[in-house]
Parts: sequence; structure tokens; C-alpha cells
Amino acid sequence: MTLEHYNPKDIEEKWYEFWEKRGYFTANNKSKKKPFVIMMPPPNITGALHQGHALTSTIQDVLIRWKRMAGFNTLWLPGSDHAGIATQTVVEKALLKEGITRHAFGREKFIERVWQWREQYGRTIIMQIKRFGSSCDWTREHFTMDETLSHAVREVFVRLYQEKLIYRGDYLINWCPRCESALSDLEVKQVEKPGKIWHLKYPLEDGSGTIIVATTRPETMLGDTAVAVHPKDPRYKSWVGKYVCLPLTTRKIPIIADLYADPKFGSGAVKITPGHDFNDFEVGKRHQLEVISIFDKNAKTNEKAFPYQGLDRFAARKKVLADLIAQGVIEKEEDYTVLLGHCEKCDTVLEPHLSTQWFVKTRPLAKPAIEAVRKGNVKIIPSGWAKTYFNWMENIKDWCISRQIWWGHRIPAWYCKHCQHITVSVKDPTQCQKCKSTDISQDTDVLDTWFSSALWPFSTLGWPQKTADLKVFYPSTVMETGFDILFFWVARMMMMGIHFMKKPPFKYVYLHAMVRDTEGKKMSKSKGNVIDPLDTIAEYGADALRFTLAALATQGRDVKLSEDRIEGYRNFINKIWNATRFALMNVEPDFKLEKNLPKHLSPVHAWILSQFFLTVKKTNDHLERYELNEAANTVYHFTWHEFCDWYVEFIKPLLKDPSQKKEAQQILIFVLKELLKLLHPFIPFVTEELGHHLPIHEEESIMMASYPKFNKKYIHPKATKEIEMLKEIISYIRNVRGEHTVSPSKLISATLVSKDTKVLEILKRNEVALQTLAKLSELHFSEKAMEAKNMAVGALGFLDVFIPITDLVDVEEEKKRLQKELEKINTDLVGLQTRLSNEAFIERAPKDIVQKERDRLSDLQSKKQKLEQNLQKLFH
Ligand SMILES: [Zn+2]
Ligand SMILES: [Zn+2]
Repeated sequence: MTLEHYNPKDIEEKWYEFWEKRGYFTANNKSKKKPFVIMMPPPNITGALHQGHALTSTIQDVLIRWKRMAGFNTLWLPGSDHAGIATQTVVEKALLKEGITRHAFGREKFIERVWQWREQYGRTIIMQIKRFGSSCDWTREHFTMDETLSHAVREVFVRLYQEKLIYRGDYLINWCPRCESALSDLEVKQVEKPGKIWHLKYPLEDGSGTIIVATTRPETMLGDTAVAVHPKDPRYKSWVGKYVCLPLTTRKIPIIADLYADPKFGSGAVKITPGHDFNDFEVGKRHQLEVISIFDKNAKTNEKAFPYQGLDRFAARKKVLADLIAQGVIEKEEDYTVLLGHCEKCDTVLEPHLSTQWFVKTRPLAKPAIEAVRKGNVKIIPSGWAKTYFNWMENIKDWCISRQIWWGHRIPAWYCKHCQHITVSVKDPTQCQKCKSTDISQDTDVLDTWFSSALWPFSTLGWPQKTADLKVFYPSTVMETGFDILFFWVARMMMMGIHFMKKPPFKYVYLHAMVRDTEGKKMSKSKGNVIDPLDTIAEYGADALRFTLAALATQGRDVKLSEDRIEGYRNFINKIWNATRFALMNVEPDFKLEKNLPKHLSPVHAWILSQFFLTVKKTNDHLERYELNEAANTVYHFTWHEFCDWYVEFIKPLLKDPSQKKEAQQILIFVLKELLKLLHPFIPFVTEELGHHLPIHEEESIMMASYPKFNKKYIHPKATKEIEMLKEIISYIRNVRGEHTVSPSKLISATLVSKDTKVLEILKRNEVALQTLAKLSELHFSEKAMEAKNMAVGALGFLDVFIPITDLVDVEEEKKRLQKELEKINTDLVGLQTRLSNEAFIERAPKDIVQKERDRLSDLQSKKQKLEQNLQKLFH
């Protein structure tokens, strides 16, 4: 069988189809094998995939293919996420290009449009995932808004509502005036900006004095409902309970005592604006203060801000400030750095906003999720992230789950116009649960996108039905995802999984790092440093990209991707390809691999088997610990530096020797076959292709073969010692040749000297290998030390290597060169000696110059001596 040159384009797509058609990716819920399950983090349908997706797909596919070959019942469940606000924003933008706003379009038509988008991009994403070689079970593919998952979402909502873990409440929330939607704390980008702080004077109602309060947002004073002081602050003790007149308004507000006021900050008194500040909102709740909102949903002042209504928030600030200055309320103004929340999606400055929202009560859910990690039932890798996890979970706030957008799971709550009762139901109700009125309408909000993805590990298996899949494949084994969504997603899956399934949704959380450019910068279109995965695959093949990503995926460290690395690993794959070509050229068409390897193996074969099975052990151990980079580098080293560089070279003469040939063929094909299996999870396409060319027919596909397992019976320390000795000698002779730039075609002679007769015996046995690999015309063995004259001598510890200088250099040429050099030194010496014997020079010249000349003299003298010695050797 002939093998053409390696061209990934010719092989990759063909094999994916082959695997998929044969159903190799499909999991079996009737299998008795131990399950190994990965739930693919569903990519957003917002657009094309990037290198981060290539990385996550590679890591997951390596693990899945490895476990599948190792005899597990593997399931890798794929899917995609509807990505609420993100998708709505991109579709809105696309519509705007056509000159249409979503409001003009209407809710129904808009949603239809998003579904069209999802059709198109959903297909692109699947095509890309397949192009990476991902062996996921497409028969179990899910979308967060498909029927099964939408049903699970409703079921969870209703159950949590009934358990009072979902509630509706008036809350101050992060609000984006542009998106007109609530944002969870996690969706807020905090940015420090230079600003100002103003100190305002509020007069006491009884005229007994003024109280100074400081604010970075003077316009919000229109919504002040109290001034707070620390209960133990002696300055204000007698003032608590009094009232101040709120400037610019006719309102009087109380002075209250609350621990929130910091006596060390400013005057120690602080204005309380529950409608526009999160801390003030809490203070307000403690003191039953009125909550005044002065802005509408677009952050324009409303009637509560009279006479400043109808202004944009920034214009309102100017006007209020001008009036405060005019009325002498401002005591002073200072520069101040303010922390401003921005919308993660559109970068608008957020406004705390009072509105009625739906919340998940998280504390009772977080408790067992913290326990699960503390007790080690769920392990987070790298372990450093566990601390971050605890810190966040222990300080968790209630989760605002309603979003004022259209794309997503609509909240299953219906309001009765008649009696105001809220009917929460899995099935769309036709009437009010309480008064039976049919005048009901569904909540217009949708759920936070992470609500449905939090259910992913069980909703995708058919929950709430008690399916066979759920029984076999829950919990999954490892959740492999980016560290950036540890809280958005992983923590919430933990809470929901434990609550509804009574078991954490996975055993391991493996958090991968970011893919960056060579300088460690984030890849972005504006920086022009993006390496698109599909471009990479078109140029170097998916296998090369996969191997690169695996080799660079060090736990907890960013992946610095460069074209050079990918090219390097493409060359590595090419090396394997060529090794296979070599093997195929050296076996007959009717070659058959024996069931059992020959009993008494020559050392070189015993050695390669040893090396291979030690590599097998290391690779498996690293994969077991999720050290993919170590695993990849281990197989890489063996393949390139042991198998290709040494073994193939060692056996070349054996394959020509009729008495050695059969054994060499057997071991060569055996190791190659097993090596391709070992490499398969990393580079599935090329190993499948090469596997089909090998004259063995174990399985119809390498991906269904057994993964190599360590076996002690293949370990031969004696043979290993012997071959390592040969490698050392050959490497030394190659180095000497290199140093003297001896042409590769020129043969030289060498004598190996050792007092140890056993060593010499071993070496004599391997005479042919030594001669061939070191390119020797003559090889002598001696027990007696030789004279070093005319010799290059290398001491290797267990023996000395002698190589005649005449073999390394052309004697006549060398003589001429040395003589010429000697002449030049002699001329220089004469000049220097003359100068140094000149007394006038010695007296007048600076001392350091004289010293320098003297140093040069002794330098030249010793050089002369060496040259003369070398010349003498050549004339011997
Ligand atoms: Zn926004
Ligand atoms: Zn009713």
C-alpha cells in the first residue's frame, strides 16, 4: 500500500463523516460500562466560534476519545445557548441596518426573526464544531429554547415559586437605560472615572445649625428622604430625630441614626437616597423610608423631580448644581474618583432603578453547593479557584432573573386584572387560579439567559421525566469551561443540580485559561491579532491546531497561540506520517502481525517497547490528572525523539538483514500501531487515516480500538541500559563530526576503550548499529588505554572514544593553515617585543597601556606554543 504525502485537506472531512455515519459518537444508555460524561458548554448563537471554542472543544474531545477507547460508556452532549440579551442585541443591530427598530417590528415578528438567525448561525456553529473533530453525540443535541428544555425551565420556575425560593419584589436593580433592561450584578462592568464630590449644606428645620453631606451625584438630592449619622457620633447625638429642610424642594427630611454612616468620612453625616443608591436602599428598608425615584426608565427626570422634570440625567445635574450654587448650598467642591457601573453589553452608564422584578432566593441554594466543594464531592481544577468560589458563594445576593427583553423564556406568571392574583403555572392557564376570571395576561419579561443554562446538566437528559438517560448520565463527570463563567454558570448549575437532582451535577470542574496572542494580549478584531480557527484549519489542518492547543493548555496559564507553534506541530504530524511511510515500504504486502510478539527480543526492540510502555503510563497518568499539556508533550517526545530519531535509524540495517528482518518488522508495526492509538485522542484524523494503511485489521476504526495500557511485561531495564549506552556513544561521535564540519557522507574510524570487558562485549554485539548510525568505516575495541597523540578523545564515563584527527581534518590543508597562522603570530611577536624593549616607550606611555601590551605578548606566546604543538602532531 502506498502512502502519498501528508495533506490534511484530503483526509479530515472524509473521516468525520465516516465516524458519524457509523454512530461511533452515540452514547448507549443500556450499556453496562462505566459512564464518562461531559456536557458541552453550549456556545452562544451570536456568531462564529473563535480559538477559545477550539481550545475547549479540543480539551473535551481529547478526554472523551481517550475514555471511549479506555472502555467507558462515553457521552459528550452538544448544544447551543439562545443567549438572551446578547442575541437580541445583534439581531436588533442587523434590523437597524435595514432601518427598522424592534418596537416597530413588534414582539412576535421580532422573535420570528431571531429564530431565523438561530437557524443560520446554529448551523454554522455545528459545522465548526464538527470541523474541530469533536466526537459529540449529535443525536442528543439540545438548544436552550427547544421544547424539552423550555418545559424544564417552566417546571423549575414553578417548583421554586411554590417553595418560596422564587419571589417577586420591589428592588433597586442595576438598570441599563439604553437596553431598557435589568442586569444582574455579574453583568455590570465597574469602571473608575475621575469625577467630583460636592459638599452640601442642609439647614436644620429649627434653625439651630446646618449639617454637611457629601455627594458625587448632586441631582439625586431631589430624591433624598433622610440624613444618617452614626448612633455613637457625639457631634450629632442631640440632632437625631430632628428634621432638615431639603434645598430646592419644600420637603423636610429626618436625621436618623444608622451604623452605615461613617464618622471618619467627611462630616460623618450622609444623605440617604433609597431610590438611587444600593446602600441607601438598605438603610431605607431598615427605617421604613419613602423610596423616591426621580428618573424614568430612560434615565430622564420625572415629575418627582419637579421643577427639573423632562431632563436627561446629565443635564439635570448641571441645572441642579447651578441652582445649588446660586442658593449658596455648596460648601465646597473637590476632585474625586468615582466607581461607575457600565452595561456589559452596550457600555452605557447604569442607573440604579426601582422596579418590580423576579428573584431567586440564593442563600438556601448556595449552602449545599458550598458544602459539595468543601467536602471534595466536587473538585475544582486548578484548585486555586475554589477560594474564589467560596468567597463569592458565601456572600451571594439574591439573583434577579427577570429581563425586560423579548428573546428568551417568557416568565410563566399570569396577572389577574380582576383580583390581582398571580397564577404561576407550567401550562398556559386560561383563567385566574383564584377568581376564575379569564381577564389574565402573562408577564412580558423573559428569564435571565443563565436560568436555562443552569439546568443544562439535567434538562438535556429529559428532566423532569425520569428517563434512562438521566439515570445513567447524571451526574456528569467533568465540567470543562472557562474560568470567566465560574459564577455565571458553574455555581448556578451546582445550586440547581443539587436542589432538583439531590446530587451535584458533576465531579470535576476543569477551568481552562484564555487563548491569547504570542505577547499574551487578548485576541481582538480591532488589534488585528486574531487567528481564526477555520483559517488555521484550512492551512495546517485540524489535527495540527488541536495538538498545539493541547500542548499549550497548561493548567491555570494563558494559551499563547502563534502560527509558528501550529506550523511546528504540523511538522510533527508530518514526521509521524513519514515514519508510517517508511514502515509500509519495509513490509511485504502480505505482512501479518503475529498475535504474540517474539519471546526473545533483540535489545533495540526490547528497548523501544520499554520506552513506549513507559510513555503509555505517563500519558495516562497525566490525562487522569487533567494535565493535557504534559500528556501531549510526553507523546510528542517519544514519537519524535525516541521512535523517529532513534528506533527507525537503529532498525534500518536490521530490515536488510534476513536473519533480523522478521523480528524488526513485527516490532515496528506493533509499536507504530499502538503509538497511533496513543496519539488518536489528540490528532484523530491523521491517526485514523494512517491506521487504515497499516496491514492490521483489529477494528474498523482506530477510535473504537482499546487505548494502550501500561504493561510491566514490556519493561526491559537491561536492554534499555544497553541502548542508552549506544545512543550516548553515537551522539558523542556525531557531535565531534559536527564540530569539525565533517561531511555527512564521509566515513571515519573510531576506537572504543574500556577496561570493562562486559561493556566491550555489549558494544561488539551492536557493531553494525554503531557503524551505521555514527557513520564509521572502522570500529575497534580495546581494553588498553591508547596514546592520545593525533586523537580526539572523549571520556564518557563508562568508556573512552578515540577518533584520529586525520579522519576529521584534511592534514595538508590543516598544515598550511596552521603554518600561516604561526607566521602571522611570529611577525606580531617581533613588533611587540621591539616596542617593549624600547625604554623611552616604557617610560612615557601610560602604565595601563604598557600593561596591555605585556598581556598581549604573553597571550601571543602561549598561542604560538599551542600552534607548534598541533603542527607537531600533524607531522608525526
Ligand atoms: Zn445596555
Ligand atoms: Zn383573579
